[in-house]
Amino acid sequence: MIRLSGITPSAEMHLGNYLGAVRRWASESGPDDLYFVSDLHAMTLPHDPTRLRELTNHQLAVLVAAGVPAESLFVQSDVLREHGGLTWLLECTCTFGEARRMIQFKEKSAGRDSVRLSLLTYPVLMAADILLHGAHQVPVGEDQGQHVELARTLARRFNSSYGEAFVVPEAVLPTAAARVRDLTDPSRKMSKSAANPGGVVFVLDDPDVVRRKIRRAVTDALGVVRHAPDEQPGVANLLEIQAACVDSTPERVAEGITSYRQLKESTAEAVVERLRPVRARALELLADLGELGRVRAAGAERARRRSGARLDLAARLAGVG
Ligand code: ATP
Ligand code: MG
Repeated sequence: MIRLSGITPSAEMHLGNYLGAVRRWASESGPDDLYFVSDLHAMTLPHDPTRLRELTNHQLAVLVAAGVPAESLFVQSDVLREHGGLTWLLECTCTFGEARRMIQFKEKSAGRDSVRLSLLTYPVLMAADILLHGAHQVPVGEDQGQHVELARTLARRFNSSYGEAFVVPEAVLPTAAARVRDLTDPSRKMSKSAANPGGVVFVLDDPDVVRRKIRRAVTDALGVVRHAPDEQPGVANLLEIQAACVDSTPERVAEGITSYRQLKESTAEAVVERLRPVRARALELLADLGELGRVRAAGAERARRRSGARLDLAARLAGVG
């Protein structure tokens, strides 16, 4: 059984990515699971080439440092020919109407006067990511459910039009993953694309920066430390973050805390401690790119081998190649 997930290097990795997804990729990954840095997806909005390359290395380094098995990792653009090739075959399987219905496109294109065509077609690239590697399960947040549904539709349509080439994948909602919210606006999830970086703790933030961000987190005027997400979203977020960092529950964490000051200090320490080894190892990997380069090259080799045969089969069935 193959599970596949990706992280887009549109910015640095944050605590939400780590607690909600990446630490599980490390602790629960099966021998056939695949995790990749989806750098091609970071090109759908205006981007800087040098920065993109840096962020791709950054994401890969944090994945390795977090303990995601090196054998399950690859960088998407290292398999550009295969992913790009299958994207074309799948674009010829997808209708314009289907692409246009994607909610993410509507959201991300809103208010921009110039939009890259790839922003419209990137769900098809995502379908190619999934189908090329024969993934059975794709753990995604709700915002990506529609894209996995498109991948299923395209796999079924291709298989029935031309012949069996693809596994029909399934979206799975990650089991009780921590949902980390923005520290300055707990009504929003912590996000790489947040307008205000003050509400986002990055995995590589200096410990003092982490402490400062958490000290400034929005709470409320009730002055009660308990886990009540609807009435006290800011306090609940801090309790949830702390619980995730010390492998406890928000309720149990709340028991020993009497003031917001104490809540913030203990949460900051829990986060700093949890991130300490990951940060140290990632900085080490980024200081000398030799080891990271080897991980990357080996991942590229495996990913190409795995995907080449399926791309050739699909092309032949469709009457090309
Ligand atoms: P963007 O704003 O560019 O969409 P993002 O922060 O949502 O960035 P993604 O690259 O879309 O990050 O997601 C990578 C993984 O991290 C996904 O599995 C996603 O579900 C998870 N994730 C993202 N944000 C959070 C969060 N705040 N809490 C928990 N998990 C999260
Ligand atoms: Mg996202």
